[in-house]
Amino acid sequence: MREEHMKIVIVGHVDHGKSTLIGRLLYDTNSLPEGKIDEIKKTCKALGKELEFAYILDALEEEREQNITIDTTQTFFKTKKRNYVIIDAPGHKEFLKNMITGASLAEAAILIVKAEEGLREQTKRHAYILSMLGLNQIIVVINIFDLSKYTKKKFNSLKDEILKFLSLLNLKPSYIIPISAKEGDNIAKKSKKISWYKSLTLLEALDTFKTKENDINKALRFPVQDVYKINDRRIIVGRIEAGKIAKGDKIILLPSNKMSYVNSIEVFNKKKEKVEVGESIGITIKDPLFIDRGQVICHTNNLPKIASEFKAKVFWMAKENLNINERLTLRCATQEVGCSIKKIIKRINSSTLEVIQKNSKRLEETEVGDVVIKVNEPIVIENFNNVTELGGFVLVKGYDVVAGGIITNTP
Ligand code: GDP
Repeated sequence: MREEHMKIVIVGHVDHGKSTLIGRLLYDTNSLPEGKIDEIKKTCKALGKELEFAYILDALEEEREQNITIDTTQTFFKTKKRNYVIIDAPGHKEFLKNMITGASLAEAAILIVKAEEGLREQTKRHAYILSMLGLNQIIVVINIFDLSKYTKKKFNSLKDEILKFLSLLNLKPSYIIPISAKEGDNIAKKSKKISWYKSLTLLEALDTFKTKENDINKALRFPVQDVYKINDRRIIVGRIEAGKIAKGDKIILLPSNKMSYVNSIEVFNKKKEKVEVGESIGITIKDPLFIDRGQVICHTNNLPKIASEFKAKVFWMAKENLNINERLTLRCATQEVGCSIKKIIKRINSSTLEVIQKNSKRLEETEVGDVVIKVNEPIVIENFNNVTELGGFVLVKGYDVVAGGIITNTP
């Protein structure tokens, strides 16, 4: 049986204990490389410091920088039930970009709040992004409870405040847990000190979540990454983002609407009869059609939308304002096209949730816009909740990713 993996993100305001919690999770689940913790303890001692769990993350990062074969954005830990992959998200820019661009969409999120400080600006922005992405498996952890004298009253008043804010975003956390990342309270073990808290630990709570339903039963979506010519053969490569494909299948290339049949399928130089979602493959087709990066291969029934204009929610993250009608590039799956924002229906403050202006001409840094986007040539799109890869996009200006967005209304 294949081991189960679940992707999670840990988000929250800076200094509320994210790195400490990640270090603690790795430590408590014995997920650190052999000898690592002793090494870190030694280093801390030599510097005259006590062991900080946040150093574990720093130490792992350093190691990764020296070893380019390790993925720099992912950290793993294991419980009895399954493996977890923490998608690294140091700030809201990386967070949104990592979440929206492709394979790294998290299935669950931990929102960390420092007890002494409660909801802060970044906590709220991150919560906004969770709601934008439709994430509904959320655990709120109230951290640094060791300094709050572990009172139930304090916990309850914070809990009310947090639930109230999240409900404005239509978010309903499955659990709210008082923890101390530093002391390890209610992470892997029940806290003796927070004795009034009788419910699940963080790891127990995570284990109750469901992994994303396999997209195997959805309609085929195979965005073309590249086409290689080897001798006389043209091999179309890419990753299947939904559904499955088999040798002999009738397929359609979008947006060109040309049809053909699958001649052969290859995975790592091995011929295969059929393959499914998540696999990176190469195929050859029967007819000599024009194929290019960005096209999407589907079966001829149940087609996605093709559009040159659609509604979206964008989170603007550049220092410079977004101006209506300015030229940008949109990337969605492997598609890349010129675009502009035709209309900003609403300009929203992503921390206070206030609507700043209707029918606006600009968006400022960290603001969210309900917008209409016009692309220079038709692209293949989906509703974000159906096929994430074709429903999420980033906007690029020059070489910088300046916004992340999700398609809210396909025409
Ligand atoms: P990040 O910016 O969210 O990654 O926050 P860090 O993990 O770096 O933590 C910020 C500071 O809070 C560090 O000095 C930590 O040692 C401290 N801290 C984190 N968790 C706890 C906790 O449970 N109890 C106490 N007393 N301090 C903590």
